[in-house]
Amino acid sequence: MDTFPDRQLTGRVLIIIAALWCLPLVADTPTPEEIFSIEDLEIARQLREAGLAGDGGFEIVADLTTRIGPRLAGSPADAKAVAWAQRLLTDMGFDRVWLEPVTFPAWSRDFERVEIRSPVPQSVQALAIGYSPPTPEGGIEAEVVMLDDLAALEAVAPEKVAGKIVFIRNRMERARDGSGYGPAVQARARGALVAAEKGAAAVLIRSIGTSTNRFAHTGGMRFDTGVRRLPAAAISNPDADQLERLVALGEPVTVFMEISAQINETATSHNVIAELTGTDLSDEIIALGAHLDSWDVGTGALDDGAGIAIITEAVDLIRRSGHRPRRSIHVIYFAAEEVGLWGGRAWAEAHHENFPRYQVAAESDFGTGRIYEISARVVDEAWQVIEAIQAELAPLGIDLGGRRAFGGPDFIPSLPYGLAVADLRQDGTTYFDYHHTENDTLDKIDPEDLAQNAAAYAVFTWLAAQSPIGFGSGERLLAEEAANAAADNNP
Ligand SMILES: [Zn+2]
Repeated sequence: MDTFPDRQLTGRVLIIIAALWCLPLVADTPTPEEIFSIEDLEIARQLREAGLAGDGGFEIVADLTTRIGPRLAGSPADAKAVAWAQRLLTDMGFDRVWLEPVTFPAWSRDFERVEIRSPVPQSVQALAIGYSPPTPEGGIEAEVVMLDDLAALEAVAPEKVAGKIVFIRNRMERARDGSGYGPAVQARARGALVAAEKGAAAVLIRSIGTSTNRFAHTGGMRFDTGVRRLPAAAISNPDADQLERLVALGEPVTVFMEISAQINETATSHNVIAELTGTDLSDEIIALGAHLDSWDVGTGALDDGAGIAIITEAVDLIRRSGHRPRRSIHVIYFAAEEVGLWGGRAWAEAHHENFPRYQVAAESDFGTGRIYEISARVVDEAWQVIEAIQAELAPLGIDLGGRRAFGGPDFIPSLPYGLAVADLRQDGTTYFDYHHTENDTLDKIDPEDLAQNAAAYAVFTWLAAQSPIGFGSGERLLAEEAANAAADNNP
């Protein structure tokens, strides 16, 4: 017996209101069956299962990191990696495989040495930051000035840092979506430029990474040929903690730094591109990217051997299924990403006039964490296609994200031209423990995680290739917005 009739009535009214409220939303979201043919959905489901049952391309990243190893852009190993990639993609049976040249200033490390000289002498685990010039022969010894972050450096009076070694101590926060990286990386990307303007002698930063191991995290920095370039290095998190404590003691702290490095102003590498040719819409292209180059430390297994494996396996799953996609699919191994998105820039320059043909693009460059969300920057009419694709990705644990997406670092230079992009967002909780360190090696890759990624890319790519609705040219991102996104997402 119900003793609260009023409450029941209120409840019924609320349910009716809620139902009316939801009705237009429900009606607006077509089911996958209303967008795709039953056959295409069946193939997508088979790809999903085959992807999960496979190794996610583990053999590919194992071969790359074993036979080629570290492959800094412009190095002899980088050239070997390009030849390796061309052979791999040809042997896998893609319809066309070709190279596109990329020129950039190549940097290489000889060595770095960082030591605290006083008040408590000790060596420090450090890596020079990419594009750091060498120190004068015999190194630099100077007092350390510790600053909280790049903003503090921008605000400091030049006389406080002139002739000193600036130490920027900002710490990257761990987050599933990697959002701690963007704010922290400003110290690495721009610290040396700002410190140079103020007359500092050199820059040290706390590593942009979340590991408590005694590994330094390298990475790139912006530089301006018109400005004096400063030697700069990253030190491991435990060493940064120690340096902070020593500074807090209140006595002057002096540090010795010696860096030997080279710049070759005009190096050439290549984007390696492979095509699985489509059928009735073969002029239209779904583009998947990853970058072939790595830093010179570790073997670039997570960054970005994993991405190479994921996208290659995804397209090979489609090829092995025996079903031809309607649109063509391109697999792009970008060159020279780590040192400044040079492959991505070259690709944007070479292809932006054809962007109406490039339907949607996505890059895998975030290790092997499982994909948990899909976001996309596509024309309004195509958003329902993304929703339908997400419904087919849901069994992999993938939710629907929003309409803000960058496509991955190498597609950022294409955003001002209106390239439509999707982000298959990966769990990055542990990615920055290894990123750009000696510890980025094959043992960090779990083939089951890799398989989830490859399955998701296979389903996404197949359905995008079969979509009856074009993704068109997405919203054009302002060049400045894209440059900021590049700074946050790269170097
Ligand atoms: Zn990367």
